Amino acid sequence: MCSDSKRLGLIERLIHVGAGWKTDMGDAGSAGQLDEPLRHLLDGLSNSALSLISKLDDGGHRVWIVGGAIRDALKGLVPHDIDIATDASPEEVIALIPHAIPTGIQFGTVTVPPRDEDGQIEITTLRADGEYIDGRRPTSVTFGASIEEDLERRDFTVNAMALDPVNRTLIDPHFGRNDLDNGVLRAVGDPMKRFKEDGLRVLRAYRFMAHPSGPYLPDESLAHTLHGGGAVPLLVGVSKERVLMEMERLLTFPSVEDTLVRMERDGVLSVVFGPEWSVASPEGLDDCFDDEVNPWALRVARFALLLRRTDSVSRSILLEGLRMSGQDRSAVLAVCERLGQLPDPLDTGQLRRYRVALGTHLGAQLAADRCLDPSLANSVHNSLMSLAPLKAGENPLVNGLMIVERLSMEAGPELGRVKSLLYRVQIEHDISDAESVWEAAGDLDGPAQMWP
Ligand code: ATP
Ligand code: MG
Repeated sequence: MCSDSKRLGLIERLIHVGAGWKTDMGDAGSAGQLDEPLRHLLDGLSNSALSLISKLDDGGHRVWIVGGAIRDALKGLVPHDIDIATDASPEEVIALIPHAIPTGIQFGTVTVPPRDEDGQIEITTLRADGEYIDGRRPTSVTFGASIEEDLERRDFTVNAMALDPVNRTLIDPHFGRNDLDNGVLRAVGDPMKRFKEDGLRVLRAYRFMAHPSGPYLPDESLAHTLHGGGAVPLLVGVSKERVLMEMERLLTFPSVEDTLVRMERDGVLSVVFGPEWSVASPEGLDDCFDDEVNPWALRVARFALLLRRTDSVSRSILLEGLRMSGQDRSAVLAVCERLGQLPDPLDTGQLRRYRVALGTHLGAQLAADRCLDPSLANSVHNSLMSLAPLKAGENPLVNGLMIVERLSMEAGPELGRVKSLLYRVQIEHDISDAESVWEAAGDLDGPAQMWP
């Protein structure tokens, strides 16, 4: 990591080196006249980003910040990662930055692992993509392209801007900034041609419509291509892993309802989820979001809601087909099963039991139930917030052996029933020692209420 004085030196250099320099590329701004949000982006670059930029620059290479960081900064958002484009070859990048990992070297991409202060940084050599034949990847890529050619291979105009941090100029040949200001999502070039190259872009189009830097509405040509214009079936050929990744990113955005309604209407959700899926309206899905919900819980909740009308066997097949991880799959299935079963927010015993039974799924369950019954889910949430932690933790105080000794019982279903009942009593009454559990349980012949 650079020292503070080195950082200051780097910043100063990034501010002053380019004064008076002007590019002749597209809609480039003149040096030193960047708008406030872009100046803010450059001045706020982390030490590691600055150090990478300066290593490449010192090595005699050109460097640009590309893609999402510019788009987000222009909308006043803090970019979560920085993508860099350079005219250095992948080998030259690795020679200058030896800790970079060749994550996609055939496409010219190396990744610099995250440091404490920021996320990972991807550095990609300028390239032009050759022909696409499988709807996924170019058959060849050509390094040594210009920055303009590099921007041309990108999907949407708002993602196709480049910022030169040394000369402090914005390069915007596709007028992405204008589209950004107007909330318009527009393909770079002919949308159908771009979707044929890579079918995933169909899904990316919907993801960006809901992106926090938006919302965006597709321009006429994109809207037509997506709605009945033949683009959606192109998604069928895309790998499930890529589809899942885009869906997961989409479902983590604060506001997704309008986009999901559009995806349902355009037949995208049926392609993503496959024939097992029974349509469930995405209406209300924005209610899952609040400032406290974590991104994992949010997307589990939303997957569960989208699959709530699908029967449980098909649901499981569908999630496996999507290649969802085992942990996420069981969370989605569990949340689906428990939808609409919130506890009484005034009953402390029920609330304690609910919290223990749901464990790590609690946040996702509440987020999902908030869409179905916001006022009840919020009351339960508030009651849970003020519920004290259990005095004795969550492990049962009375184990099987203790029951066998005390009641002279044999192992079997009856023992299981008693154990379950005692545990339930322990949690509901927040008891902290075994003897008090026996006392509180009283009549063990009472109604068999299994735990949890
Ligand atoms: P986010 O902030 O959501 O990550 P992003 O713009 O960084 O948004 P990424 O998926 O990380 O999106 O991609 C980085 C950039 O690479 C995009 O902005 C776009 O320019 C380009 N890109 C990524 N995937 C594709 C694709 N399939 N086709 C064309 N361009 C793409
Ligand atoms: Mg990104």
